[in-house]
Amino acid sequence: MSTEIDFYELLQVERTADDKVLKSAYRKLAMVHHPDKNPGCAESEAKFKQINEAYACLSDPQKRAAYDRYGHAAFQQGGGGNPGGGGGFGGGDFGDIGDIFETIFGGGFGGGGGRQQARRGADLRYDMEITLEDAFHGKDAEIAVEVSQACDPCGGTGATPGTSARRCNLCKGHGKVRAQQGFFMVERPCPTCHGRGEIIESPCKHCRGEGRVDAEQKLAVNIPAGVDNGTRIRLAGKGEAGPFGAPAGDLYIFLHVQRHSMFEREGTTLLTRCPISFTTAALGGEVEIPGMDGRVHTIEIPAGIQSGKQLRKRGAGMPVLQGRGVGDLVVEIQVETPSKLTARQKEILREFQATETGDECPQSKGFFDRIKDVWTDLTE
Ligand SMILES: [Zn+2]
Ligand SMILES: [Zn+2]
Repeated sequence: MSTEIDFYELLQVERTADDKVLKSAYRKLAMVHHPDKNPGCAESEAKFKQINEAYACLSDPQKRAAYDRYGHAAFQQGGGGNPGGGGGFGGGDFGDIGDIFETIFGGGFGGGGGRQQARRGADLRYDMEITLEDAFHGKDAEIAVEVSQACDPCGGTGATPGTSARRCNLCKGHGKVRAQQGFFMVERPCPTCHGRGEIIESPCKHCRGEGRVDAEQKLAVNIPAGVDNGTRIRLAGKGEAGPFGAPAGDLYIFLHVQRHSMFEREGTTLLTRCPISFTTAALGGEVEIPGMDGRVHTIEIPAGIQSGKQLRKRGAGMPVLQGRGVGDLVVEIQVETPSKLTARQKEILREFQATETGDECPQSKGFFDRIKDVWTDLTE
């Protein structure tokens, strides 16, 4: 199982972005996440690596085309390939692009000689909604998908158990026949065996000779901590079964993280807005914010804080996907003007007002001084 973030989402560009847009988005992000700018930050290092990987792929027209068509599977072992066409490439590395194309398109075009290879089963998509809590802690989920699977009784061959398919007489097992068409000799799939090269004389009753049947499949999915919107989890070989025993496709789980009532998320940063009273804002104090981790985080409020000011608590954000470290919690302060005052409170505030010189609030003072200047200029 592997977890991937969409390359376009990583670079924060539309799928239609041209080279120029792509390059500028990449530069901007690379600058922010460059290891030199964030020494010792594992999160930035991992992000920097991902951004580079994404850009390396999308800036190359061939790789981008393959990615658009097959997603990450284009660069993974056995991805989107044709099982007979030239073997997989090891490791799960990006490998050489030539190999990738051979694997994806090999045998599909022209395919010299031999009978037509059976096609790999289709990849499937499954959309899954999770809560921000799930994304924070990770989760073991079980999903049920209706998917075609290799027929059990016949082992996917399509022939009644105990019998086997026989070679097609018309094409002699090649799966193709040649015919004269005008001056040309054309090759087309054999009409008798439909390109398989074999004929099933006694089809399996269970799958009616198709080698696969639709069935509900229960799958365990491990959602790692730190996943985000657009993260995909690949369950290799859990897609549609291939026809007549060909390898199955993959199942991709697309994650959607629900909105949270208290936190907004940006990468590994959690943002929350916290209203505080005007007295706390003026005198300073502290507030307690319950974090996603279940702990209560005490945030110090410096005296004289203004609305919109953001206070940061390191290590109280979201965990880094497949990496070490945790992001930050950012608390945005909103100073609340009191709207329900008792007579006594009003009295105290009037007393306070009487002592005001204007120096308590330098910004307001500066603003009104500037207005005065403008006014004087205009009336002179
Ligand atoms: Zn045939
Ligand atoms: Zn069967």
